[in-house]
Amino acid sequence: MAEKKKKIIKTIKVDVDKCNGCRACELVCSAFHATPKYSSNNPARSRIRVIHEPLRDVYVPVYAGEYAKAECMGRDKYMIDGKEYDECAFCRASCPSRDIFKEPDSGLPLKCDMCEDDPPQKEPLCVQWCLNDALIYEEREEEVEEEVKQEDVEIGLESMIDKYGLEKIMDTVNRLSLAKKA
Ligand code: SF4
Ligand code: SF4
Repeated sequence: MAEKKKKIIKTIKVDVDKCNGCRACELVCSAFHATPKYSSNNPARSRIRVIHEPLRDVYVPVYAGEYAKAECMGRDKYMIDGKEYDECAFCRASCPSRDIFKEPDSGLPLKCDMCEDDPPQKEPLCVQWCLNDALIYEEREEEVEEEVKQEDVEIGLESMIDKYGLEKIMDTVNRLSLAKKA
């Protein structure tokens, strides 16, 4: 079952052509997420990594996405401007086959959280620090379908039955369906 809810959708548009590989985004992300905040900076702890392919002359900022428990059997391979890139080169997952997007000490997966903080940031820090405008932040409001968990429905139904009794609930459902048909 799904119901409509209003949500703020946050996106960061990546303009690969403008990225010069300065890695300011990696530094500020790792510093922002350090404990205590800004106490260290280590790109290996960043939730954005700039994939550099020197021979093919490209820098591609990639955001850490979902954690994958197992390597996937279907791999992706990109061709950009006629040049072929390594398998999984731009994948966002933290997965067992690579070291990228893993906390270097613990091996725990890292995921971009859009710099969610209290108080909230005006814009994600990597966007603020990208002086080349390769990262562009956008927000929009959207109606999205929110999955209602089956167990929540069952708990709700159970408490209504406790409160009103099964017979009364069935009566109401019958009356409603008759009214709908009329
Ligand atoms: S800060 Fe911007 S230009 Fe520098 S590496 Fe990151 S995305 Fe590229
Ligand atoms: S949005 Fe925040 S958490 Fe995500 S990569 Fe940028 S600085 Fe890191």
